[in-house]
Amino acid sequence: MLPTASPLILFTDLDGCLLNKHDYDWSPAAATLQTLRDRQIPLVMNSSKTVPEMSQLARQLELADYPFISENGSVICWGGETGQPFGDVEIIGASRDHILEVLKSLKPQYRFRSFADLGLAGVAAETQLPEDSARMALARQGTEPLLWDDSDEQRNKFEQSLRDHQLSLTRGGRFWHVAGQTSKGRAMQAVAARLSHSDPSSQPSGQPILAAIGDSPIDQSMLDLADVPIGIPTPSGLGVHVDAGRGIIATAQGAAGWAEAVSQLLTRLERDSTAPSQSPLH
Ligand SMILES: [Mg+2]
Repeated sequence: MLPTASPLILFTDLDGCLLNKHDYDWSPAAATLQTLRDRQIPLVMNSSKTVPEMSQLARQLELADYPFISENGSVICWGGETGQPFGDVEIIGASRDHILEVLKSLKPQYRFRSFADLGLAGVAAETQLPEDSARMALARQGTEPLLWDDSDEQRNKFEQSLRDHQLSLTRGGRFWHVAGQTSKGRAMQAVAARLSHSDPSSQPSGQPILAAIGDSPIDQSMLDLADVPIGIPTPSGLGVHVDAGRGIIATAQGAAGWAEAVSQLLTRLERDSTAPSQSPLH
């Protein structure tokens, strides 16, 4: 389904946004998802999840026609274009093989256990995931989570050692994540560039509007680069900065907030449309 003639491309985080935080339910967003499908507005998932995890979700959410972004901007799966089971995968930043090589070289100096060290049984035990889910979480291509077993001082040195190899360290929940030089925002721009590279005869009106939906600091890079940043509140309040002039802040959490914000966005675009008769929104 590439490229698109839609005047809007939506990028969305999953956990705490399109999917509720604890039960992973998206039924409050089902009607809005159908509206996006009816209007052929591309919805691109942009999450920390792996390609197998997201491929499964893409089928369940009927988003298999569109690309998606995995591992916090490290991997783009161009699934919709190729029709392959996991699509054509592009790694931006650093490959996991490279990350594992660097981690191996740092092993003598620091105490940590990465997913590769833990293995399937270890990952299942540490994440409390059933084995099938742990296997999908282990199927990584551009990031490596690790448990830090050393001091804070050592971690600062470790972070510098990673930087020397053009790698970064970010805190998740219990796990720290090693990645290359990338971000959710950078990956969003790469996907948007390819999606909006449309046939000039069919889309004379120029670049589509980019809207990005997130709930936590790791989403900030995509919100900052979007035309319309959309924040979904968390149980402890709003975890992202949303420019009040161009953005939308949902009042509800999770999938209900997601549906509320997207409906508001569609209403705003219809209202702002200067040539309604030519707009696919109508
Ligand atoms: Mg989230």
